[in-house]
Amino acid sequence: AKRSGGNVARFYTREMNDAVCQRVAIESGLRQAIAREELSLHFQPQLSIATGALVGCEALLRWRDGEGHCVPPDRFIPVAEASGQILPIGEWVVGRALDHIAAWRAEGLAPPRVAINVSARQLVQPGFAAMVLAALAQRALPAEVLEVEVTESIFLHPEAAALGELRLLHRRGIRLALDDFGTGYSSLSYLGVLPFDTLKIDRSFVANVDAPDDARGDAILKATIAMSRAFDMQVVAEGVERPSQLAALQTLSCDVCQGYLFSPPLAAEAFADRCLAIKPT
Ligand code: C2E
Ligand code: CA
Ligand code: CA
Ligand code: CA
Repeated sequence: AKRSGGNVARFYTREMNDAVCQRVAIESGLRQAIAREELSLHFQPQLSIATGALVGCEALLRWRDGEGHCVPPDRFIPVAEASGQILPIGEWVVGRALDHIAAWRAEGLAPPRVAINVSARQLVQPGFAAMVLAALAQRALPAEVLEVEVTESIFLHPEAAALGELRLLHRRGIRLALDDFGTGYSSLSYLGVLPFDTLKIDRSFVANVDAPDDARGDAILKATIAMSRAFDMQVVAEGVERPSQLAALQTLSCDVCQGYLFSPPLAAEAFADRCLAIKPT
């Protein structure tokens, strides 16, 4: 047992070392990210397929590190989840999203509902719902301005606490969205466990929706949309890039779409300039 350190070292490949180094670098860089104001939120519009109206937007986290490099969320979020840094970062996301909403409203703009991404890690200890509700109250904002997106991963280790936090938010009027639908360890049973308002179809299903010979893909989407209707959930298609995908989704009577076809995620100011209309008085 004394020599196991050496044995462990022997199994490390160069690649693993690189991965470990990268992880350590991200973790240490993130430690100062909030204080140094390296984080920001971008916003991507969500449009009604039937009318083209702006019905919502998704807030997506951006990190420009100390050297000025943009680190993609798919890189740093998993590290932040493992280290626990996602807790202060997640709280920052809630506060910053609400600050933007409050500022837009103060300018006379009419921002739609903002969806924020929440990791399972943020929900397993009690206090998340209370934090969100306090952040709303502090800015005198109603619960309807917010939607919380979670992935199927919250059902992987079903902890009563996570579901309790989400149920509490829902009772107070905050909408719940199930993100990346179809990519996880899908069991439909959990759709009965939480009162989701929105189901977001993962872009891997949207990718082939305009293929003429994809009968199986079409059947999956049709069934998913029919099920969403039965549960009274709004269906959002993610990753819509082509007009032909939009046309196919329209035929399937999907409700809402989000993707590069309309807009990439935009910095707050650009989002306000391009997407937010003056509030009708
Ligand atoms: P997600 O929640 O599934 O977010 C959608 C991702 O798809 C975003 O990537 C968005 O930029 C990208 N996207 C949007 N439209 C298109 C399109 O038409 N085509 C393609 N190929 N991609 C599109 P992004 O911003 O890099 O975020 C990646 C992931 O990082 C998110 O996936 C989410 O899981 C996570 N994430 C982002 N912000 C936060 C956050 O504040 N908190 C937490 N916990 N996770 C976050
Ligand atoms: Ca999302
Ligand atoms: Ca997603
Ligand atoms: Ca098709």
